[in-house]
Amino acid sequence: MSGSGSTAPRILIAGDVCGRLAALYKRVASVNKSNGPFDALLCVGQFFPSDPSGIEDMQKYIDGTEPIPLPTFFVGNYGEGANLLLSASKLKAAQAGLSMEGIPVCQNLTWLIGSGILNLHGLRIAYLGAKYIPDLYQDAKGAAAAGAHHEDDVDALRAFADDKAVTDLFLSNEWPLGVTNGADLVNVPPNVNAATGTMIAADLATELKPRYHFAGTEGVFYAREPYLNPDADHCTRFIGLATVGNDKKQKFLHALSPMPASTMALSDLAIRPPNLTVSPYEIARIESKSAGSRATNLRNGLAKDTSRGGKHPVDVDGQYWRYDVGQTKRQRRDDGDRVCVEFVTRGTCSREGNCRFKHDLGDGTPIPKGACFEFVTKGSCERGADCRYRHSLENPERREPLPAGVCFDFFKTGKCDRGADCRFSHSLDNPAPPRPTGPCWFCLSSPEVSTHLVLSVGDHCYCALAKGPVVQGHVLLLPIEHFPSTVSLAFDVLDEMQKYIDGLRECHRSQGNAIVIFERYIQLRAGTHAHIQIIPIPEAEAQSARGAFETAAMQAGFEFQSLPSGKSHRQAREALWELVQNRNYFYVELPDQARLVHPLDGGAKMSMQFGREVVATLLNKPERGDWKACVMSKDEETNMAEEFKQLFTNFDPML
Ligand SMILES: [Zn+2]
Ligand SMILES: [Zn+2]
Ligand SMILES: [Zn+2]
Ligand SMILES: [Zn+2]
Repeated sequence: MSGSGSTAPRILIAGDVCGRLAALYKRVASVNKSNGPFDALLCVGQFFPSDPSGIEDMQKYIDGTEPIPLPTFFVGNYGEGANLLLSASKLKAAQAGLSMEGIPVCQNLTWLIGSGILNLHGLRIAYLGAKYIPDLYQDAKGAAAAGAHHEDDVDALRAFADDKAVTDLFLSNEWPLGVTNGADLVNVPPNVNAATGTMIAADLATELKPRYHFAGTEGVFYAREPYLNPDADHCTRFIGLATVGNDKKQKFLHALSPMPASTMALSDLAIRPPNLTVSPYEIARIESKSAGSRATNLRNGLAKDTSRGGKHPVDVDGQYWRYDVGQTKRQRRDDGDRVCVEFVTRGTCSREGNCRFKHDLGDGTPIPKGACFEFVTKGSCERGADCRYRHSLENPERREPLPAGVCFDFFKTGKCDRGADCRFSHSLDNPAPPRPTGPCWFCLSSPEVSTHLVLSVGDHCYCALAKGPVVQGHVLLLPIEHFPSTVSLAFDVLDEMQKYIDGLRECHRSQGNAIVIFERYIQLRAGTHAHIQIIPIPEAEAQSARGAFETAAMQAGFEFQSLPSGKSHRQAREALWELVQNRNYFYVELPDQARLVHPLDGGAKMSMQFGREVVATLLNKPERGDWKACVMSKDEETNMAEEFKQLFTNFDPML
């Protein structure tokens, strides 16, 4: 196999893990030693334990007590404790909206939710998550709760099958029905027969034509002879994997190092191995035509068993006609009524005018990116706040200002999982700003505010001297209204805040200083009033600021995440929102434009004075890190404020 000079990724695929992560990673470690290092591990079949006693061991990995040694992806979100262990991830999924790259569960563990195409080291990996439960196939809410796949998941993947790109891998939990048709029976495991697997997996394998198809669930290892796909030059290898740690010593871990098809020459892709067979699904289709009348008779007698996508009755006389592609095609929803998944996901469609799926709402208005199919077609969605898709037909790319007081989540996604507990308005029509539940030092209208510290007041924000400043010129920037964090601020408030930041930056530059900007948001029961701190540092120290924050983070036991640079302040704020969502966070913007974030999960703690401590250390004045050590008398404060006001006059955006 020759590629375009790039190296092929090295991946491992495992069968049903059933919660046995210790056994799995032990085997991975030994394979890694002999044949590694591997880039990723993909798991098919049931990922969670079969017995409740296994939940505790699994929890250790998910809460980070036990490390996960390499990036691991799973599609089998079922088993004991699955709902419990995935509850936080489900919230993330609902907020993240449509994403093909999966939902992070913890460090190095990703849940491939629903269905989609994952790009992993250049490999195009199609996946169908969850399992087939006939009664839940058209029940979105029930399917999500039971770890079953829904019609929409399957349709979504079918839409991608039309892409010209070759699919390298296909992961399904269940075997494709009829995969042993035309195979050498000597290699077929004894308990596998014509009724093994689901028609859904077979349908998708037929349409996706993957180079490799992996499945679990059956508890046996089976590598079928490669088969040729009709209308394609490349062949497919199906591999069923056994359960991790099974006592029959059946193979459950498979190593693969495929060159991505996108980097391969067509002639290499079309190489035909000597033991090639015709497609097992093609055999089924031809046989079904010749035995059509008998099939119809049997179907009429067994209507329930032959329901769409279901397992067909057991092999009565050794014929293959039970797998009937024509039948499933007719029972599908009419394509013209279906939303184009590619268009909804990417905002564009590679098929453009030739696409047979819907791109507009019926009146020429394009379907907005990330919109919920069910919401688009029916006007409502039974999944409610749990839905991964947007329940709004507004275009999410619009740059209209967020109305003051409107919930950011609601504005962006049309839903908010805080429901009635949310402190923001879930209506775009009549928003009212949030009210503090007690006295607030920062609400400009409140009697508690220290007016002698106020430097400048705008339409939405104001600027005040920090109480106990690290250095002269250390100021706070705050919204006038009681908004909890800058992430929840309306765009017009943010815009004004940015004008203040620009003014302050220029003001300090005139004094030979750069600025460090940071915000610490901790949700308090009594409510939080957003404030960002701006501290000048000498230009000479500007290049050291990032290192100082990263070192301090390391010492405090965490690592900052970077937001993409070169974005506008609105884009940066949205990126911050995407990252932190409902969590507390610490955010810092450095003189070199770097924007670093540390989201605080659950009860995660962080020093109240972290930001000022780092700056004080950077300035070689560590004693100024403590706020209380810097408190001044009211007269001193008044003088300092007057002095700074003088300096700021030429830069104040409100003057
Ligand atoms: Zn399309
Ligand atoms: Zn929905
Ligand atoms: Zn809300
Ligand atoms: Zn307030």
